[in-house]
Amino acid sequence: MSYKNFPMVPRVVFGRGSFNQLSEIIAPKRLNVNAPFIFLVDDVFKGDSWLTSRIPLSYEDKVIYISSKEEPKTEQVDSLVEEIILTSSQGASGIIGIGGGTLLDLAKAVAIMLNNEGEAKDYQGWDLVKNPAVYHVGIPTISGTGAEVSRTTVLTGPKMKLGINSDFTPFDQVVLDPELTKGVSTNQWFYTGMDCFIHCIESLNGSYLNTFSQTYGDMAFQLCKEIFLEDHLSASDAQDKLMMASWHGGMSIAYSQVGVAHAMSYGLSYLLGTKHGIGNCIVFDHLEEFYPEGVKLFKEMKTKYSIELPKGICANLDDSEFDVMINISLSLEPLWENALGKNWKKIITRDKLKELYQKM
Ligand code: NAD
Ligand code: ZN
Repeated sequence: MSYKNFPMVPRVVFGRGSFNQLSEIIAPKRLNVNAPFIFLVDDVFKGDSWLTSRIPLSYEDKVIYISSKEEPKTEQVDSLVEEIILTSSQGASGIIGIGGGTLLDLAKAVAIMLNNEGEAKDYQGWDLVKNPAVYHVGIPTISGTGAEVSRTTVLTGPKMKLGINSDFTPFDQVVLDPELTKGVSTNQWFYTGMDCFIHCIESLNGSYLNTFSQTYGDMAFQLCKEIFLEDHLSASDAQDKLMMASWHGGMSIAYSQVGVAHAMSYGLSYLLGTKHGIGNCIVFDHLEEFYPEGVKLFKEMKTKYSIELPKGICANLDDSEFDVMINISLSLEPLWENALGKNWKKIITRDKLKELYQKM
């Protein structure tokens, strides 16, 4: 038996207003005055001076606003890398991602690809990255995905949606400032927050569970119940706690795996472009037989916040489209093995998956 030896984020600052310290945090990492810091920022913040006026720009540092309407694509990473190489002859001192999972994943992928030859799609998979990434910093502005702690950056490529999983992927620095999440809409807060809740359920009920994952998972699970089912938290306490729940949820799956909801929502995402948070919710709503307790709690949370999930998103699909989703989903073998054990192929057939998708 050989155990995984995995890297963690080596530096993290936590606190409301900690974003103000960004300048002093990154300054020592500047390589030279001609090597800029590149800030990849969710374009929801364009024109929002409360946040953007505090992005510390000096010398040739640059802000690139990016839409998170669609999840990151390998081609998008390649073109960002090309743009940065063309405009920064001395290379970049660092890449700083400011936003949700989409921007965090883009920052990680761009930082990797600046120091590795070829195209991003060549590195989708496990441990294919050869050279360490450029210094990269993650600053979440919405909580739940765990992308701020994870060892992966999830990209949609020409053939598949798959992460670049490597020891060079995790951020060198994370800034956790829960105040940055204050503008998130209730629906989006719920969808991305449920990603964290679902990480806990899938990790805690999986066959890969171990004490490392369980302790982080239990912590995140308790926090989620407090945030989404109880009424005693102030808005700022709820923001603080969800940011830490996301962190712990991410740590929990680092040493285990996700499960059925993720395996199926990757299929939806690949074919229909359904985004991660809402896609997980759409799937999880129908998974009573796999996660009875978790789905019961999920439905209570949904009712409490009057969340209406889209219905009938698979209603007009033909067989070949179902096949695409089923193929993507079944290719995620570790997720199924974690969820259902070594004999998962006997439990989750193509027909069974189709029947589940048809309900969505
Ligand atoms: P997101 O980054 O796509 O953002 C969702 C929406 O929230 C966007 O419209 C965005 O503009 C908005 N938003 C973000 N911060 C805001 C703020 N402070 N105020 C107002 N609006 C704000 O959503 P997400 O759910 O955080 O991330 C999903 C992505 O994360 C997917 O691409 C998924 O694949 C990825 N992901 C990665 C990992 C990982 O470990 N790397 C894990 C889970 C999910
Ligand atoms: Zn997730």
